[in-house]
Amino acid sequence: MKQVNDYIQSVFQPNDDELTEVLKSIRENNMPEISVSPNVGKILTMLVKISRSKNILEIGALGGYSGICLARGFGKEGHLTSLEVNEDFAQVSKQNHIRAGFEGQTTIMVGEALDTLKHLRESENSYDFIFIDADKKNYVNYLDYAVELANPQALIVADNVLAGDTVFNADLEDKRYTEAIRQFNEKVASHPQLESTLIPSGDGITVSRVVKNENRE
Ligand code: SAM
Repeated sequence: MKQVNDYIQSVFQPNDDELTEVLKSIRENNMPEISVSPNVGKILTMLVKISRSKNILEIGALGGYSGICLARGFGKEGHLTSLEVNEDFAQVSKQNHIRAGFEGQTTIMVGEALDTLKHLRESENSYDFIFIDADKKNYVNYLDYAVELANPQALIVADNVLAGDTVFNADLEDKRYTEAIRQFNEKVASHPQLESTLIPSGDGITVSRVVKNENRE
């Protein structure tokens, strides 16, 4: 997988100066270097553009890398709500969103994502695109909220769904979140309200189209 990702990155060059600055700010603030891979960032931008999504929810902001990739998809017309448990990370993320030209178009909600999601559901918010990229043990719970908060035909995307290849390679050692991700993938694949696939870019993303109130073909 690493070879494939290195090849894609070397040819398609998905990181630009602005995104490189975000990664630098993450290093300088001693934050974990676990932003989405540049290839995945590019896919996020393209999916938002293709789906013409305008109202986006992200679970897991870190330093704002994926948030910027998502916001680039809607340009000047749209809004990103990003959930983050760590107050310091939220600050870095906010600064990076502003530096990338999205001042006033992003809201970072600090707190446990499950609490914030409950609040968003109670306030009857709904979204065109939901990106899941926080603590893996809660992925199945995040999926339940995502389906509830999704507009008809929304997209739901989740990162790290290969769990460092451990979901399919039993010889690999680091199995911290293998089971949680396997359960998530199986739930996504069989969900009656989702049409889904897995794209093996970066650490893998699932891409699901919500098929609420719609006959499946
Ligand atoms: N999406 C980010 C990007 O690519 O730029 C990376 C997100 S990082 C993989 C996961 C983030 O989720 C971390 O910033 C972490 O603090 C946050 N997080 C972890 N558990 C959380 C929780 N229970 N509620 C909200 N945020 C959480």
